[in-house]
Amino acid sequence: MKIPQIPTVKTISHFTPSLYEAALRCKALAIWSAFGERNTLPQSSNAILGSCFHKVLELANKGQFPQDKKACYDAARQVFEEQVQLQYQNAHPLLKSKFRSIDRLPYYYLFRERAALHATDIALQKQPSTSPGISKLVGGAEVSLVSRDGLIKGRPDYINIAKSEVIDYKSGTKAEAVGTELSVSEIRQLRLYAHLCLENDIQISQGIIVRGNNQHATLTISDQDARTEGDAARVLLAELNAAAAHQTFQEMAEPSPENCKGCSCIPLCEAFWEQATPEWANECGLHLEAEVIEPPNPSINSASRVITLQTNAIRGTFSPAQVTIQQIPENWLMLDGENIPEVGDVIRLVNAKVTNSGSSSVVGVDKFSTSIWMV
Ligand code: SF4
Repeated sequence: MKIPQIPTVKTISHFTPSLYEAALRCKALAIWSAFGERNTLPQSSNAILGSCFHKVLELANKGQFPQDKKACYDAARQVFEEQVQLQYQNAHPLLKSKFRSIDRLPYYYLFRERAALHATDIALQKQPSTSPGISKLVGGAEVSLVSRDGLIKGRPDYINIAKSEVIDYKSGTKAEAVGTELSVSEIRQLRLYAHLCLENDIQISQGIIVRGNNQHATLTISDQDARTEGDAARVLLAELNAAAAHQTFQEMAEPSPENCKGCSCIPLCEAFWEQATPEWANECGLHLEAEVIEPPNPSINSASRVITLQTNAIRGTFSPAQVTIQQIPENWLMLDGENIPEVGDVIRLVNAKVTNSGSSSVVGVDKFSTSIWMV
């Protein structure tokens, strides 16, 4: 696959909670999140399942499922399947090549079940979000809110005006806090939603995270907490836009093991490749830029063709000078109609897997997360 283009750096008109989180981590990541061509990078299957989980809950909160338990459960499962199918059809070819149908996406059945059970709870009025005091005019499901100055926007999953609560559902597809504890980013998100509510004359006194396993984590939010978070977001937005006015994507990048861990921009982020070292591997994973030094070695594995590459490491989080990349499915390498890498070609291997060979100079690929790019 060819490395995607870095986006043109521009100022960002407003923050959403997710853009705010991206900018707190790395300004270049925020620019990618706002302007990057996302479909040029393979989606994570978790991201697809997570967004379909949210869609089902949104419809449940809007009262669009039957109130009969069995009928609601079946309808929610069907909507989940339809939504995943829709997203799968438009997914990156690498994802479709790895998982040939939606039911092969890791944890597909688990998240379909969670979505159906949550939707049934909501439809049967077991969740706090179904309180009869909800105003249909401003509260409710997935209402788009804008701050008075237009600099912050967001769509809380649910606003319960009667209880002064803002609710966010977590599918459990991301590495998030668990149980009744809240992560720092979840606290920021709830406070920012509360700030948006206050700016729209909706009083909020607490935020609730409802997890995929139905555990609830609750945060008391004062008006001051909400305002402070809103002000912090505005300060960061101003800083980011000041940088965007005169810096390149690479200059805005803030590489570190913590920031780059799991970042989808690694294939295209020159700053990452310039600064990553083997010491980053524990936190950030195995990523290698390397030159192919021998003709590719094909073989058959589980009835499909795989390729082994001998390479000279150039940069990344590897320490050995020579690295063997074992058993890459041939179709992963030829998605853009490209040829298998030849001697002299430079590739980037992102999210490689340690093998059980016992040698750190032999790595494998992981069906869930590995991608290979031509430089
Ligand atoms: S790879 Fe690291 S430096 Fe590059 S955009 Fe992502 S977080 Fe920022």
